[in-house]
Amino acid sequence: MTAVTVRVPAKVNLQLAVGPVRGDGYHDLVNVFHAVALFDEVTVREARPRAERPLVGLSVSGDLGPHLARVPLDDTNLAARAARLVARETPAAAPVDLHLHKRIPVAGGMAGGSADAAGALVACNTFWSAGLSQGDLLALAAELGSDVAFPLVGGTAVGTGRGEVLTPVDSPGRYHWVFALAEGGLSTPDVFAEYDRLRPGAPAPEGDPELMAALAAGDAARLGAALSNDLEPAAVSLRPDLAGVLDTGRAAGALGALVSGSGPTCAFLAASAAGAVEIAAVLDASGRCAATVTTEGHAGRAEVVAPVAGR
Ligand code: ATP
Repeated sequence: MTAVTVRVPAKVNLQLAVGPVRGDGYHDLVNVFHAVALFDEVTVREARPRAERPLVGLSVSGDLGPHLARVPLDDTNLAARAARLVARETPAAAPVDLHLHKRIPVAGGMAGGSADAAGALVACNTFWSAGLSQGDLLALAAELGSDVAFPLVGGTAVGTGRGEVLTPVDSPGRYHWVFALAEGGLSTPDVFAEYDRLRPGAPAPEGDPELMAALAAGDAARLGAALSNDLEPAAVSLRPDLAGVLDTGRAAGALGALVSGSGPTCAFLAASAAGAVEIAAVLDASGRCAATVTTEGHAGRAEVVAPVAGR
């Protein structure tokens, strides 16, 4: 086996309800994950011969401009950590080079690092013929972080606990999204800290029955009205410019708008593909965001796209 490529989706949270901080420093969440068709690609191949061959070599590419430089290339990279976890379960694992082709914004609230980690779990499991089950991969994902399990499931799913206990949601709808990407990123821990400051003693998080009914009906207008993110006030407090981005997309006809996860990316639900293009054009012309992406949800889970050339 010479190479395996896995395509793995970004996410937006349709609802993010945040409870008080727990004893272990995490927050209890109700987190409705929705995969969108904006994909990173994770490729694993046999390591090139060189003087020192680490178990996992790492490189990165993509059109994210200066954002790309913020992807760590050392042991802290979540995808490299994921590869090493698979190797831990695979004693005969030979050294590999891991390549990340990134389209998901870095530190943008779309769980790009978690997506890469999930992609690396699937790619390494295939490359090393590690034989890990979906349940095994979900357990390794939970070790890596709260958002890593979801891309292994894809579609739309409710996460509880710190977000990692997933229940898939059956939804017939196809939704049209616009994402407004920001200059710079926001640190997820900083946004949670600001949330705790703004909202001490938050109540236990609860799911929203209206959102679930909208999803069950595949009704985009209802879904747009029900989108919610408890982290939004904290993200806007740290990045006041986001309020203008949200207002601009709403005025351009979005059915709903919210900060994606911990931000600073903003997400807009459109009534149609043409509507999404129009909203993106208005956002681009406003000069309030760095770039826009139009895409659809929900997308599928992390999957192998380029099998395996020769042996
Ligand atoms: P989330 O939505 O899960 O809070 P995010 O989308 O805001 O995450 P990421 O793109 O996952 O943010 O990056 C957060 C930080 O994680 C980055 O600033 C970077 O230092 C680190 N990181 C580790 N591995 C990766 C990776 N493979 N890609 C991007 N960032 C990574």
